[in-house]
This record gives sequence, C-alpha cells and structure tokens, in this order.
Amino acid sequence: MTGTDRDGFWDVVVVGAGAAGLWCAWRAAALGCSVLVLEKTARTGTKILASGGTRCNLTTTLDGRGAARLFGSRGERFLRHAMRVLPPTAVREAFDGLGVPTVEAPLEKIFPKSQRARDVRDALESAGRTAGAQFRLGAGVAKLHPEGAGWRVWLDGADSVLARRLVLAVGGQSYARTGTTGDGYRWLAELGLSVATPVPALVPLVSPADWVRSLAGIAAQEVEVRHGDGRDVPLASRRRPVVFSHAGLSGPGAMDLAEPVARAALDGRTRELLLDFLPDIAAAELERALVERASKGGQVRVVRALEEHLAEPLPRRLLAAVLAQAAVHRDDLVLAQLSKPQRQGLVRALKGLVVPVSGTTGYDNAEVTAGGLALDEVDPGSARVKSHPGLYAVGELLDLQGPIGGLNFQAAFAMGEVAAAALAASRAG
Ligand SMILES: Cc1cc2nc3c(=O)[nH]c(=O)nc-3n(C[C@H](O)[C@H](O)[C@H](O)COP(=O)(O)OP(=O)(O)OC[C@H]3O[C@@H](n4cnc5c(N)ncnc54)[C@H](O)[C@@H]3O)c2cc1C
Repeated sequence: MTGTDRDGFWDVVVVGAGAAGLWCAWRAAALGCSVLVLEKTARTGTKILASGGTRCNLTTTLDGRGAARLFGSRGERFLRHAMRVLPPTAVREAFDGLGVPTVEAPLEKIFPKSQRARDVRDALESAGRTAGAQFRLGAGVAKLHPEGAGWRVWLDGADSVLARRLVLAVGGQSYARTGTTGDGYRWLAELGLSVATPVPALVPLVSPADWVRSLAGIAAQEVEVRHGDGRDVPLASRRRPVVFSHAGLSGPGAMDLAEPVARAALDGRTRELLLDFLPDIAAAELERALVERASKGGQVRVVRALEEHLAEPLPRRLLAAVLAQAAVHRDDLVLAQLSKPQRQGLVRALKGLVVPVSGTTGYDNAEVTAGGLALDEVDPGSARVKSHPGLYAVGELLDLQGPIGGLNFQAAFAMGEVAAAALAASRAG
C-alpha cells in the first residue's frame, strides 16, 4: 500500500532512517501499512555504514534472554518481550532472507559474511522500498504535535505531513555528524515526557592519573574490568580487552563501563575502574599459591612467579604499574623476600589494579548515547508511548544501552519489529 488516505494521513510516519526506523518501516509496510520515512540526512543508515569498522556487527551469538540481560536490570525487563519476538537468531534469518548471510566472530559477534556494512544498510532500505515504504531524504523534522486523530509533523521549512501513527526513531546525540543531534529529547520534553539525562557511552575514558596516560599504547587482552563501586551501575563488570591511551583507558572493556563514569563526571566526581588480570583465580587462591611457591622455591623472581598464573604475560610497563600499586619497588625481588603486606598488596593489584577515571572523551567518540526516554513511559509490548495516543518510540532514543558486540543493533531491530506488529494490529483494529 502506498500514499495517504482521503484526509491526507499516512498510516505511519517514521522519523529517522537508522537501524530501528529502517526495520520498523520495512516490517510495517510488509504488514500492510502505508509508511513514510523522514530522514534528516541525504542517506539512510549512516551509523550502520560506520558501524563495526564499516563491517557492521549487526547482532550477537547470545540468545534473546542473554542479550537482554546485558542491558541492566531495567533494560532487561523492558526488552524481554522484544528479544522473544525477534531474538538474534531471527535477525540472522531475516538478513539471510534479504540476501545478506552472516558469520560468527570472536566475542559473541555476528557480521555480514561479506564484511560490508553497506550490504546491511542496502538490504534494509531496499526491503522497505519493495514493501511499499516511501522515503524522503534530506527531510529533517523540526517539530510535531497531535492533530485530529493523529499527528502533524513539521519539516525544516514550511512543509508538514500528517500521520495516524508516528514513530520516533531519531537515535541519540553521539556522532552528531551522522545526523543524530538530540532532536528527539527536545520533542519528548515538550510533550511532557520524562527523559533520563543523556550522557556519552561506549566511549573511551579520561584518567587524571599521569601513570595511566604514560602507558598509552599498551593493551591487555585477558582482563575483567569492574567498577570500584558496582552497586548502582547497569553493567558492573565486563571481560573484554582494554587499551591504555593518551587520554586514559579505551578498548571495549573500558568503553562498555563508560556510562556511570560519564554520569559521575556531570557533577565532577571521579570513579575507579578495577582491572582484574587473573579473573579465573580467586584472590585467596592466588595468595595461597604464592605462599606455596615461596615455600618450595623461594628464590624464583616475583615477576616469574606471577607469569606462571597469567594467561598472557603482562607488558613490562604494565607489570611495573601493578608492582608500584602493590608497593613492590624492585622487579628483581624474589618471592622469599616479599613481606606479607607486599604479597597481599600484589594480589590486590593483580586482581584489581585501581585506575581512576574522571570522564569520557565525549559525544564525538561515543558509539551511543545513554539516557533518553524513560522506559516507564513506553509499553514494552508495542513500543507505544503510554500517555500519547498514536505515538511510538524505538531504538537509542529510549533509555536503553547495551555493551559493544551487536547488542545495540539487536535491540533497535527488535524494538522496530515490536512496533511494526503493533502498528499493523492497530490499523486492522
Ligand atoms: C562508530 C559507531 C560504530 C558502531 N558500531 C556498532 C556495531 O558494530 N554494532 C552495534 O550493535 N552498534 C554499533 N553502534 C551503535 C549503533 O549504531 C546504534 O546503537 C544504532 O544505530 C541506534 O539505532 P537507531 O535507529 O536508534 O538510531 P540511529 O541509527 O542513530 O538513527 C537515527 C536516525 O535519525 C535521523 N534523525 C535524527 N534527527 C532527525 C530529525 N530531526 N529529522 C529526521 N531524521 C532525524 C538521523 O539522521 C539518523 O539517520 C555504533 C555506533 C557508532 C557511532
């Protein structure tokens, strides 16, 4: 079906042709709705094109439940339904059906077999067009308000369109050059809806400590990163590589835990990340092993004894930082010379090297924006904004944020699917 009805209304207007908007438009059109997509930039799916180093990590090998769990307890509750309706396996099947077969990669990632993000974007856009959705590119929405039995959507300039149902899929405000400049937050606030303060997330971190920045270029692969105080954070720990940088700490392990750091920085607070280089050994067990080793062959060098436990040897300068935090100032020390407090300090530093972090490198480097439309404003079974008939919201615009690894596209697609089904059902009803 194409075009507006007698009164000039589209069944559905989708604002934003990113991952969530493209999926929703395609599926709603395929289910019989007349759909118009309004996209501010000159092309669709700009973030899809840039994603995964232009390879697009489009979903995950986790099942729906496992994927939802990575969005923190509130996010998990909200996404449970959507991840059941469209689990990661269904996303892979859908892309297979669109001629984009996928392959698994390390760290639970899924990429298109072609390794080209463009194929993902093209497949979604052309599926939408084939199903009858119409696209207006270079059509930035300026404002919106309820009108009659629907919504009037004003474009930049004097033009406007009418929608029986309006889907907001405008994303957040990171990587503003891709079109996402936080417009949705303003509209939501004007409608009286509650918006959690946006902050940059999945973003490299800044450290005030010289010793951290002096390690720039050093990476650790086998490490678990934790928040010093993990009680109030959506994702308290993550076992992913970290990379020290001129600003502080980067790599997925650090970026995944960025949101609470960004929130603390809003009021000038510094947080601590703990790097556990031996995540598979309990601290007590490690200490026992060091005592035992000292009793058998105490002349072994401390550094050598530690290497017996590490899956990968720590780079020399990183090891020096660990020793310094444990107040062990000589790396030629042998085990038998370690005092008990030194041994305990060493275990503490290896199981939780304390890295102070005072902020992030900002929206220009952030893969997503955390915060957004409060989840209790939205019905998770339909993506409908509860207080405004005919209004739907999907994707990153919501207060939902998953870690790196295809989780954010997966959530965007799943919410798009849920919204499309609800849009088609409400049209029929
Ligand atoms: C560099 C980079 C790499 C990434 N890699 C991955 C990855 O590999 N895997 C993964 O899962 N996630 C990745 N992400 C995150 C992922 O891109 C987002 O989570 C996802 O795109 C969110 O989808 P969305 O549809 O909600 O928003 P977006 O994809 O951001 O789309 C929003 C769209 O709305 C449009 N828009 C905004 N304002 C208006 C307006 N006023 N009028 C009309 N249109 C408007 C924008 O131009 C944009 O096209 C990456 C992000 C970045 C920046």
